[in-house]
Amino acid sequence: MRPPLLNPLFAGAAGLKGIGAKLDKLLAGFLRPAHGTPGETTRIVDLLFHLPSGIVDRRFRPKINGLPRDGVVTVEATVMRHRPPPPGNRRVPYRVDVSDGTGPLTLVFFHAYADSIRRALPEGETRFISGKIDWFNDEPQIAHPDHIVSADEFGRMPLIEPVYPLTEGLSPKVLAKAIAQALEKLPELPEWQDLPFLQRHGWPSFQQALRTLHHPLAPTAVGLESPDRRRLAYDELLANQLALTLVRANMKRAQGRKLPGTGELRSRLIKALPYSLTNAQAEAVNDILRDMASGDRMLRLLQGDVGSGKTVVALLALATAIESGAQGALMVPTEILARQHHATLSKLCDAAGISVTLLTGREKGKTRDEILARVAAGETALVVGTHALFQEHVVFKDLGLVVIDEQHRFGVHQRLALQAKAGGATDLLVMTATPIPRTLALTVYGDMDVSKLTEKPAGRLPIDTRVIPMARMDDVIDGLARSIAQGNRAYWVCPLVEESEQVDLAAAEERFLQLASRFKGQVGLVHGRMKGPDKDRVMQEFKDGTLQLLVSTTVIEVGVDVPEATAIVIENAERFGLAQLHQLRGRVGRGSGKSSCLLLYQEPLGETAKARLSIMRETEDGFRIAEEDLRLRGAGEMLGTRQSGLPLFSMADLSTDGDLLQAARDDAQLVLNKDAKLTGPRGEALRVLLYLFERDEAIRLLSAG
Ligand code: ADP
Ligand code: MG
Repeated sequence: MRPPLLNPLFAGAAGLKGIGAKLDKLLAGFLRPAHGTPGETTRIVDLLFHLPSGIVDRRFRPKINGLPRDGVVTVEATVMRHRPPPPGNRRVPYRVDVSDGTGPLTLVFFHAYADSIRRALPEGETRFISGKIDWFNDEPQIAHPDHIVSADEFGRMPLIEPVYPLTEGLSPKVLAKAIAQALEKLPELPEWQDLPFLQRHGWPSFQQALRTLHHPLAPTAVGLESPDRRRLAYDELLANQLALTLVRANMKRAQGRKLPGTGELRSRLIKALPYSLTNAQAEAVNDILRDMASGDRMLRLLQGDVGSGKTVVALLALATAIESGAQGALMVPTEILARQHHATLSKLCDAAGISVTLLTGREKGKTRDEILARVAAGETALVVGTHALFQEHVVFKDLGLVVIDEQHRFGVHQRLALQAKAGGATDLLVMTATPIPRTLALTVYGDMDVSKLTEKPAGRLPIDTRVIPMARMDDVIDGLARSIAQGNRAYWVCPLVEESEQVDLAAAEERFLQLASRFKGQVGLVHGRMKGPDKDRVMQEFKDGTLQLLVSTTVIEVGVDVPEATAIVIENAERFGLAQLHQLRGRVGRGSGKSSCLLLYQEPLGETAKARLSIMRETEDGFRIAEEDLRLRGAGEMLGTRQSGLPLFSMADLSTDGDLLQAARDDAQLVLNKDAKLTGPRGEALRVLLYLFERDEAIRLLSAG
C-alpha cells in the first residue's frame, strides 16, 4: 500500500480551483501519456512533476522613454485614456493609453472584452504592466500584456516567471495557477537520499527543489544543470535503479521453470517457412532455447535492425514453450502491428497445428469473453495482442513465455507492471530494433542477456535513398506514377507536426485527396484516428495489392511488413528523428525487389536536419544510425520514447543526467545489499521514493519474496 503521507500527492487535481472535468481530462492526456488509458485523471503529483522549460524575466523596469526595441519589460504607468473600437467593428483593436510622465505607451487588445479591460485598467490609476514590447510607427506598444496588476498585487508577483510546456487548449495562466495550488499540497517527506551525498553535490531537499523550480528566484534556477533539477533527476534515476534491482533480485530468486520443448512444432514451423534461417537467427534461437531449457528464468533482449527477421525467432521460441505444455504471449505496441503479426503467424501456426488468437482493446463483449475463456482454459496456446493482454481480466492457464516486440515503445511503468504480473516463473524475451549502448540498456532493462541479429536475410538489395526538396514534388509524383504503372507498391508518409494530431491528419487527408485524384482507385489512407476495422481494411487492401499507394501518418512506422512495397516517400523528412526515419525506411527493402526511399524536405534546412538526412543517405546500418542519433539528439530521444509520447523519465534527461546513472546504480545495489527488504530507516524512506515515482510494482516483489 502507498504510504498515507503521499496521499495528498496522488489525490485528483480536479478539486483545484480552475480545473474542471474538461481540463482534468486534457491535463491527464498531456501529463500522463505513459498511462494512456482513457478515463485517467490528473493527480497533484502530475502537476508538480511538470517542470518549467524556461523562464520569463520581468525584472527589467525601464521608464517609457527608455524602452528597448524588443524584449519583456515591466512598466509602472498611469492609465490615461481608453480607446474602444467603433461599435460593431471587431477588427479594430481596443487601445488603452498609459503614461509614466516620460512618454506614452499604448496597450493593444484584439477581440477583447471591453468590460474586463475597463476593470483591469481604471482611468487615472497606476498599474504595473508586464509584457513584450512592440513598436508600431515608432510608438511603443504592448499587445495583450501578460500581467496588469496594482501596486499591491505587484508586491506578490514573481518577476521571474516559469514557463511550462503547453498543449493545445491549455492556457499558461491556468496551468501556472494549478501548479501553484499543487505546491501547497506538498507534504513533508522523509529524506531518502544519503545526507553526505547531498551535501557533496550541494543539492537541496526534494521539496525545496520542487519549490525552487516552480518559483524560481534566478533565471538559471530552472536550467538542466541547476542543483534542483539534478536532485530530482537523481531521485528518479535512483527510484528506477532500485526498482530494476529489485525486479532482478526477485527474478533470480524465483525458481524458473524448464521449457525444454520437443522440437516437434519447431521443425514443422521451419518446414513451413518459405526461406531458411540466417545464421544470426539460428544463433539467437539457440541462445533462447538454452535459456528456456535451463531452470533459471530467462530475461533476454533480442536486438536486431529493422527487417532482420526478429518475428520468426520469437515464433520459434513461443513454439518451444507450447511444446513444453505451456502457453505463449506476444505483445506489441500497436493495434495494426498486432493484427499483422496475428495474420502472418496464423498461417505458419496453422501449418504447425498451433492454436493462436488475437486480443486487443478492440475485441469486446461476447467475442472477448470467449477468447478469455479459451485462454484461461489453456485451449489457446498462443495469444498475440497489445497491452490489453496484461489487463486485469486476462488470466492464462499456464503462461510460460512472454515476448514483447518493439519494446522501446512501452513505458517503464508498463514493463514493470508486466514483469510483476507475468509472475515468477515466466520467461521473458524482449525485442527491439533500437540498438542501445550498454549504459542505457542497464537503465532501461536492468541486467539482461542480449542476443543480436547482426545480419539481414540474404538477397536484400540496398535501398536507394534520395534527399529531394519539396519544390520537386511534381517530379516525385511523376516518378511514382511510372513505378505504379509497373505494378509496384509504395508508402507515402505525411509529416509529423508535434503539437497536434489534428493538423497531422489534415495534412495527410489533403495529400490523400491530391494523390487519389491522380491515381484513381489505387490509393488508400490510414491514420491513428481511424476506426480499427477501417484501418484493417485499408491495410489488407494494400497488402493484397488492391491498393498500390498507401498514404499514412506515422502509424506505419513500427513493424509493418508488406514485402511487396518497394518505395517510400517521406514528406517533411526534416521533421523526423533519425531513429524514426530509419524505422520508416525499414518498411521497404523487405523483399527481393529493388527499393527506394525519397526523403522530401522543406527548405531552408537547419544544420541538424541536414546532418540527419545525409546520414540517412550514407548508411542503412542501424547501429551507426543510432550512434549518430545519440550524438545529435541525446539519449531520451534515441530510445524513441519521446517521439512515441512515452517518456522514459519525467525528471531525468539522459543527455545531461547520464553521468548520474552509474551513481544511482551503485547506490541502489549498496542499499539493497545492506537492507534487502527496505525496512531500515533509509529503506522506509526509499519506499516512499518508489511510490512517488510509481515504481511501486517493485515493492510488491519485496513482500512476495
Ligand atoms: P523485424 O526484425 O523488423 O521485425 P520481420 O520479422 O518483420 O523483421 O522480418 C522482415 C521480413 O523478412 C519478413 O517479411 C520476413 O518474412 C522476412 N524474413 C525473416 N527471416 C528471413 C530469412 N531468414 N530469409 C528471408 N526472409 C526472411
Ligand atoms: Mg518486427
